Amino acid sequence: MLNGDHVAIIGGGFSGSLLAINLLRHEGPHATLIERRARQVARGVAYGTARREHLLNVRATNMSALPDDPDHFIRWLDAQGVQGQRGFVGRSVYGTYLADLLTEAMSAAPDRLRMVHAEAVGVREEGAGIRIALRDGGSIVADAGVLAQGNLPPHELPQFAGLGEPVFMADPWATDVTRDLNEDDIIVLIGTGLTAVDVALTLDASGFTGRIVALSRRGLSPRAHAAGGPPPHSLDKPQYSGSALVAHVRRRAETLGWRLAVDELRPHTQNIWRSASEDQQRRFLRHLRPYWDVHRHRLAPDIAERVAAMQAEGRLTFAAGKIERVLSVERACCVDWRPRGASVANRLTVSRIINCTGPQGDLLRTEEPLLKNMVDQGLIRPDRLNLGIDVDQAGRVIGRDGGVNDGLYAVGPMTRGAFWEIVAVPDLRHQSWDLARWLSAAHWVGGEGL
Ligand SMILES: Cc1cc2nc3c(=O)[nH]c(=O)nc-3n(C[C@H](O)[C@H](O)[C@H](O)COP(=O)(O)OP(=O)(O)OC[C@H]3O[C@@H](n4cnc5c(N)ncnc54)[C@H](O)[C@@H]3O)c2cc1C
Repeated sequence: MLNGDHVAIIGGGFSGSLLAINLLRHEGPHATLIERRARQVARGVAYGTARREHLLNVRATNMSALPDDPDHFIRWLDAQGVQGQRGFVGRSVYGTYLADLLTEAMSAAPDRLRMVHAEAVGVREEGAGIRIALRDGGSIVADAGVLAQGNLPPHELPQFAGLGEPVFMADPWATDVTRDLNEDDIIVLIGTGLTAVDVALTLDASGFTGRIVALSRRGLSPRAHAAGGPPPHSLDKPQYSGSALVAHVRRRAETLGWRLAVDELRPHTQNIWRSASEDQQRRFLRHLRPYWDVHRHRLAPDIAERVAAMQAEGRLTFAAGKIERVLSVERACCVDWRPRGASVANRLTVSRIINCTGPQGDLLRTEEPLLKNMVDQGLIRPDRLNLGIDVDQAGRVIGRDGGVNDGLYAVGPMTRGAFWEIVAVPDLRHQSWDLARWLSAAHWVGGEGL
């Protein structure tokens, strides 16, 4: 519960904006939303894309931003004149939906919700509240702060750092990722997940006709959603853990198919994660995570078709292996990579390498000034699995000394150590809703938490 009437939210993407909107909806404290990138207000990284080939990987019917109004997004689509859109719409369309929602909330209550365009670079406790330092020299004082800064950028890959741009592109979302390519070039993507698929589609849409080799240790790539099909059954929480749970999912997959067997776990994933021991969580991350990721976070059917077509044309390969050596040559480089299980390396001469390793959560390796500042002061610490920021079940951050902080919270994918299934909209919308209720003391009014 909040001691005061002003919450500052750092990060104005999906989670931050929805928290601010839900605070207004619950007539809670007034909010200041701090966002460093104007084009990402409400949209964040995921829905800030302008590229039409980037589609949602969740059906529109499950993408309402408001947990208490499941058809909200569908009604918005209808109001835009895109009736009949129930499948996988463009991520930029979804970004416009979020931006509309935020604009509407701000114009309805301009005195309750303020937007600040700035980068937060530090937080310190001051009296009973906090002071947030901004890069432009300003500061914001609030009764409580919420970290909603999204995923951290991908790990730096020091073995490529010496190559320089554009041979090595560290940021897969950079607008110039496709610049100055020839049609017979070879490009290596480091990573074979959703980021690699996004980049391959962007290269394709920009007219690149050369070869793309996406490389990771196992070479696993995201599976496709079924074009239609029944919704998942509702399942009682499985009473298994560890390898027994895996065996249970395998058995269910034999009768239901793997998609439904994975989907029916969804309402229980957070509870399963919470009740697993640290050892079980570690074993899951070590052995199962890559398989979970590709079956759980799927491609829209249209995207999967385009990926398959590029593969069939020999323009896109997903490969399992390890890069052993990189040699810089004039405006290109030679990559020696060893396929998994092989003893001899292959050499590719490539004109570009793009870091598609995906978001990371390692607080101790991040160069983000805000998080470094907070870790250095002991205000936040990594969760025990080093997946992100350590929080309790209410989202309150836990400091270096193990103490729970009533004035600092975190939402979004950086809380995956506590919740695991906290990446996509269907989970994030509940998290922002729950925290807004907590900060507005609405959870008491409803009798919850008693
Ligand atoms: C490419 C991609 C595609 C995805 N597609 C889907 C999908 O189709 N369906 C789905 O359900 N989920 C999808 N997701 C999951 C996605 O993570 C969430 O939907 C959501 O965007 C995460 O919200 P967030 O607010 O935590 O982070 P973001 O929305 O990224 O917002 C964080 C914001 O904080 C700002 N910020 C960071 N640090 C500071 C600072 N120090 N000061 C000020 N501002 C700061 C950033 O500029 C950014 O705008 C996708 C994710 C990615 C990366």
